[in-house]
Amino acid sequence: MSLPLAVPEHVPGTCPLCGVATPADLERCGSCGYALAGVDGRPSAFSRATLLWASIGFLAVYLVTLAIVLVTR
Ligand SMILES: [Zn+2]
Repeated sequence: MSLPLAVPEHVPGTCPLCGVATPADLERCGSCGYALAGVDGRPSAFSRATLLWASIGFLAVYLVTLAIVLVTR
């Protein structure tokens, strides 16, 4: 059984969470504080390089942990 969800349609120039008008230079909604990164053409909060290096970091920690487990078995 699933409940019907009423997802309001996003109107450009407004906050997706509370619907208050948000000028293009705002990074957060002045009413509810919702982060507006990636909304209405604003740049995303994370660049491709950030995501790439975070992934490499997680992979490196995983491989070091795996190596320690294999050495101590
Ligand atoms: Zn808002």
